[in-house]
Amino acid sequence: METHKTTFHFKSLVASEGFKLESTNKRNNDLFTAEFLEIFSNKDEEDKATGTISNPLSYDVNIKNKVFDFIDRNSSKFPSLNGLTSFFNKLEEGNLYVIIFNIELTAELSLYLSSHLKAWENDEDVNKLVKEDMDLFGTTFENYRTRIAGDFRKAVGNPIRKQRVCRFCNESMPKVTFKKKAHAISEALGNKNIVLYDECDKCNERFGKTIEGDIITYLELFRTIYGIKGKGGKKKIKGKNFEASKGEGNQIEIKFFSLDDRPKVGDDYNIKLEFDKKVTHQNIYKTLTKFFISVIDDSELPNFEDSINWINGKINAKELPLVGEAINYDTFVHHPRLLYFLRKSDDTNLPYAVCQFFYTCKMFLFVVPFSSKDSVELNRKIDWKHTFKSLSHLDKYKGWGFYNHSNNTPRTFTISLNTDIKTEE
Ligand SMILES: [Zn+2]
Repeated sequence: METHKTTFHFKSLVASEGFKLESTNKRNNDLFTAEFLEIFSNKDEEDKATGTISNPLSYDVNIKNKVFDFIDRNSSKFPSLNGLTSFFNKLEEGNLYVIIFNIELTAELSLYLSSHLKAWENDEDVNKLVKEDMDLFGTTFENYRTRIAGDFRKAVGNPIRKQRVCRFCNESMPKVTFKKKAHAISEALGNKNIVLYDECDKCNERFGKTIEGDIITYLELFRTIYGIKGKGGKKKIKGKNFEASKGEGNQIEIKFFSLDDRPKVGDDYNIKLEFDKKVTHQNIYKTLTKFFISVIDDSELPNFEDSINWINGKINAKELPLVGEAINYDTFVHHPRLLYFLRKSDDTNLPYAVCQFFYTCKMFLFVVPFSSKDSVELNRKIDWKHTFKSLSHLDKYKGWGFYNHSNNTPRTFTISLNTDIKTEE
């Protein structure tokens, strides 16, 4: 039976939300969509809906109440509607937002809408802002198809359980089960938005036990500082020599178990936080790649068979491309975001798939290794200089460091904080 879909995206500068209505009955779907859109419709002199929507809309408590009422009545049939509650709760008087439906929200479109929202809210010149963005993303859009994952609620893969094929082991029911909710980006990192239907319970559990823990430990300090709620809410970090928890604002409270570990005034201001979990660096790279595999379109999977073999431990890698890391407060995200770029041309000097993973103020830049669209040489070493020229927007971010995450043995994980030690008066 054919399913009829209507996709909606709501976007403002403070929140974004997307959802999909699916039904096998076209008429039901159309009626439902019409009733929903009527809430946002322009009204004529007699306050009747005209059936047209003028973007942008501005926050209005009456509309918000109507939306909440609509959700109350329909969320049992369409649970994905619930996401709109948090969208409208984040908006305030004076905020503008746009609604688009049945249009694919590409990175280009998302950027275009952001520039417009910025210009409208701050009374700036729209054309100037759009041009600035287009200049910035000039060669990026020329060379790569750009996609964003994480900002909007989305389920990737086949909604019908019986038809699912696991992206990682290629198995289907009844050989494997698909009972658990598989998060495309680790739930422990705060991902609430993206789930992957096409990941079986066995693979899900295996990744949780083998590779996923390493990036969670690696990013644990950021998670605690910014109070990102993972699975089971906010967490304290318990290390070997310390315990850290979120203080007020973006402060962190660190307690040392022993007086010897506690820095003293006049020390060289170097605090060493020793974690009690070890970190395998290659697993961090594998998990980042797994996030990518979990959000891409089905049709892209054949280009990454060996990338999946590598994640599964069937291919050993000694030398992997360097991974860029940076801290950038301008691109701070409350929800993990994966921006990915797929090469349009046949220029094999450029990597086929490049990703930027944003986590609070931390940013990773990596290529997806072992793509069949790349040469063997490129799968080991990336000429980042050349790649930067072809992804012009990367210039905006300063302070990239490039790190080798090839090491495949668990190592003690320590973070050194250089800080001023002050006495409290
Ligand atoms: Zn599987």
